[in-house]
Amino acid sequence: APLGGCGHRGATSAERSLRWRCGAPRPPRQLSARRKLVSRPRGRSGFTSKELYFLIVAWCVPCLVSLDTLQELCRKEKLTCKSIGITKRNLNNYEVEYLCDYKVVKDMEYYLVKWKGWPDSTNTWEPLQNLKCPLLLQQFSNDKHNYLSQVKKNNNKTLRPAIARYIVKKAKQRIALQKWQDELNRRKNHKGMIFVENTVDLEGPPTDFYYINEYKPAPGISLVSEVTFGCSCTDCFLEKCCPTEAGVVLAYNKNQQIKIPPGTPIYECNSRCQCGPDCPNRIVQKGTQYSLCIFRTSNGCGWGVKTLVKIKRMSFVMEYVGEVITSEEAERRGQLYDNKGITYLFDLDYESDEFTVDAARYGNVSHFVNHSCDPNLQVFNVFIDNLDTRLPRIALFSTRTIYAGEELTFDYQMKGSGDTSSDSIDHSPAKKRVRTVCKCGAVTCRGYLN
Ligand SMILES: [Zn+2]
Ligand SMILES: [Zn+2]
Ligand SMILES: [Zn+2]
Ligand SMILES: [Zn+2]
Repeated sequence: APLGGCGHRGATSAERSLRWRCGAPRPPRQLSARRKLVSRPRGRSGFTSKELYFLIVAWCVPCLVSLDTLQELCRKEKLTCKSIGITKRNLNNYEVEYLCDYKVVKDMEYYLVKWKGWPDSTNTWEPLQNLKCPLLLQQFSNDKHNYLSQVKKNNNKTLRPAIARYIVKKAKQRIALQKWQDELNRRKNHKGMIFVENTVDLEGPPTDFYYINEYKPAPGISLVSEVTFGCSCTDCFLEKCCPTEAGVVLAYNKNQQIKIPPGTPIYECNSRCQCGPDCPNRIVQKGTQYSLCIFRTSNGCGWGVKTLVKIKRMSFVMEYVGEVITSEEAERRGQLYDNKGITYLFDLDYESDEFTVDAARYGNVSHFVNHSCDPNLQVFNVFIDNLDTRLPRIALFSTRTIYAGEELTFDYQMKGSGDTSSDSIDHSPAKKRVRTVCKCGAVTCRGYLN
């Protein structure tokens, strides 16, 4: 690509490359206006990297140039741009992104290096003593051993390239999962961190999943109801508070544990209440407090969720969110979905069966929580700012102490009402469902998910 090939005398190099990229130069007036607003250090191009990022994105999208070219442009203009992998660190120094291959020549060890922000075509063999990336070397060695433990070593000629291919796939997967983890943590609005881990296979981030923090109502469904009551207690734990108004008891004890039986609704204090954020009746609304890990299961259950910290018994762990759709729409989607998709449909059957939560494409960490016939999470219906009994929020509470590293599970059949009879599902008239085998491994396993 003729970078800067149409340079004009007097123009800054950034303007030159913009001309090259956009065809016609843009009047500089708007740029100087922007300059006054921003007082960040600028490179020799005269623009801050933020400004240039803006220029590249806003002016040059039609060009649709490749990542390699954008990286080359950034490097030429000494601009950092994190989203395309050009950082301060690799702008002036070469940074190893991952190691692709390994060889020994005359007793010297060499690694094939993929450089961060550079295309594959610029990979180079580097002697071991030049590499200052112990973590990447360790990962290379681990991946190599993992691969060798999985295959029969009978053909040495094809083995070497196969190892290299596997190691590169693994490195790319690691980068993709890290990127996804960063994205999940940017999107989530609760305290607990979300980690992502796959030590089992080459599966990368899901391609059609969007993280949301709260229900996403389908057009025509309103989750905003007029809250008619807000308490004015001085102590919500002792006084007749929001639960009393709704005809139930306060759901929590002083240790923030749930003390009501499954099937009983939770009425938390809401935006009209006089109490502050430390009110003992505000638990679910504060979101997940625990650091959780989305991990690849080794027993064929796809992704699962484990806790990285100890969770006390009867504690709020996470909310089940997704698209809120009508039950007719759920029925329609149910026909289209494969078995896996069907398991994301959660009927809100607390008092009616008008609505269903579909977490197949939109959801939070709960999307990845597996089913178990002997689960450690239990479902509760929660009402906070929306008191419409057709639209409860779904909260998952621990049924027992869950230790760090343990997988979290809930019973897909045990819905909010506590109804455990699966008759209505199995014998629905004139409709056969393909049954999904349960792999939960519990002593009390019912054998099927549906
Ligand atoms: Zn109160
Ligand atoms: Zn209240
Ligand atoms: Zn309160
Ligand atoms: Zn089971």
